[in-house]
Amino acid sequence: MKESKKLNDLIDALTILPGIGKKTAQRMAYKLLASNKDQTLNLANKLIDSTSEIYTCPICGIYLDTDDYQMQLSTDKHLCIGDNRDISKVCITESPADVYIIEKSANYNGDYFALKGSLSPLDGRGPSEIGIDRLDNRLKTGQIKELILATSTTIEGEATAHYIQQMAIKYNIKVSRLAFGIPLNGELGYLDSDTISHAFNERKII
Ligand SMILES: [Zn+2]
Repeated sequence: MKESKKLNDLIDALTILPGIGKKTAQRMAYKLLASNKDQTLNLANKLIDSTSEIYTCPICGIYLDTDDYQMQLSTDKHLCIGDNRDISKVCITESPADVYIIEKSANYNGDYFALKGSLSPLDGRGPSEIGIDRLDNRLKTGQIKELILATSTTIEGEATAHYIQQMAIKYNIKVSRLAFGIPLNGELGYLDSDTISHAFNERKII
């Protein structure tokens, strides 16, 4: 029986999505091919647009459209957070997605820094791969007085928090860690907003 190589390529490409194994990717690929062609093309175009027209903020690392990114490059002021924020406090997360979760859940008025994941040397994720060198540059400015570590409670998240804590000692910066009563190995995205708000307010100086 003949097989479509292009279809197999599409299935392989879909397996990069989180939680999508080969079987689910197959179902998705068949569904996409059976759908209205305009909808499928629209999805394909959105994927292309998002890879070529979304940038990360050079200060905090959240995702920005080209215009906002260009505007941020032209000023020292951090435009993502707007006015009236306490820029001496910086909350550090493992991803841009976690920044939005905290912003929605916790009553926080400081600034942010989103890493690109957590430290995992065996997987090739060292300090510079996850953006800790950029954080170091930011700490050097002397404007930051408190770091709030909101990395996950996984082994990698704890290792990342420890690494940043050691770095902060060098600059005499106070460091606090979100107090997670529950759950161990819980990544921020799986927690409800009350838990996050509580963990934030009860953060402990480390
Ligand atoms: Zn920013």
